[in-house]
Amino acid sequence: MGISDERWYKSGHYKFSRDKVLHAKRCVDLDNKVIKRFKISKVYSGVILLNGTYYNVIYGKATSQIGEARPGSLVWTIYNHSLPQLLLIKSKRFLFITNERYKSIENQFLSSWKHQNKLIPQIFKIFKIKNGNLEDRYNIKRTLVERNRNLANKPFNGRRMTAGNEQKRFHGTSVVCKIGETGKLCSSNKCAVCCIIKNGYKIFETNKNFQRFGKGLYFSSTSSKSDDYIKNNSGSSYKVMLLNKVIVGNAYKLATNCTGLLHPPQGYDSVIGIPGGNLNYDEVVLYHEDSCLPRYLIVYR
Ligand SMILES: [Zn+2]
Repeated sequence: MGISDERWYKSGHYKFSRDKVLHAKRCVDLDNKVIKRFKISKVYSGVILLNGTYYNVIYGKATSQIGEARPGSLVWTIYNHSLPQLLLIKSKRFLFITNERYKSIENQFLSSWKHQNKLIPQIFKIFKIKNGNLEDRYNIKRTLVERNRNLANKPFNGRRMTAGNEQKRFHGTSVVCKIGETGKLCSSNKCAVCCIIKNGYKIFETNKNFQRFGKGLYFSSTSSKSDDYIKNNSGSSYKVMLLNKVIVGNAYKLATNCTGLLHPPQGYDSVIGIPGGNLNYDEVVLYHEDSCLPRYLIVYR
């Protein structure tokens, strides 16, 4: 069934087929590195260059019959790298990421639900957000921050930092459509969730209300705090929350309000709000739109 390391490496052309047949000249991952390891039991995503256009390829293992593919068959989806869309990462048909990754997202969401007065919710679905243009901009920004600060492997919150001190943080906002149920993006400009997935975070479209650390983009590691900011005008009983990759870089820590900020203090890339002073729960504020990438959409109630 499927693809071996040998074929992956040695064939200059690669044939994908599902409902169409395509020939790939080059297989790289999202960081533009040639994919070296390939095990059929796992799930990979990659990008192929076809006639000047980048296409993403998502591999999954069929867990039930899909068309001609029997359970255990390797199946794949190809789509234009520039087109924003959602992929259901776990369903009866496909597992688009590894079980461990799914569990770690679920665990991050549930274990950071800290508000005692709010019932712990149940996750209904998780989508992976694919938007090649945003990913490209984010990766460039991350490389720049790392080049300036040299953070990889330095200690942070009891762990070692990755390049750019990348973290996964939640963001709750308004939604007017049933994206959590359908997986389809709407065209309303009042739907902040869909606008963020399509166009990324925009500093001047954020909340005109009180902003504790000035004009920035606000995220939290506390899911129940981000839940407070959700305005669910969709008519759906399911809520949706974004889990984002954010480039924290060198963080400036603040425990008291500083509402006039337009950018982090000199030498810093972000502001972290520390609980204790004016804050009950943590937040991280980014002042550059390319520093935040919507990555997963968690659907729950
Ligand atoms: Zn929408």
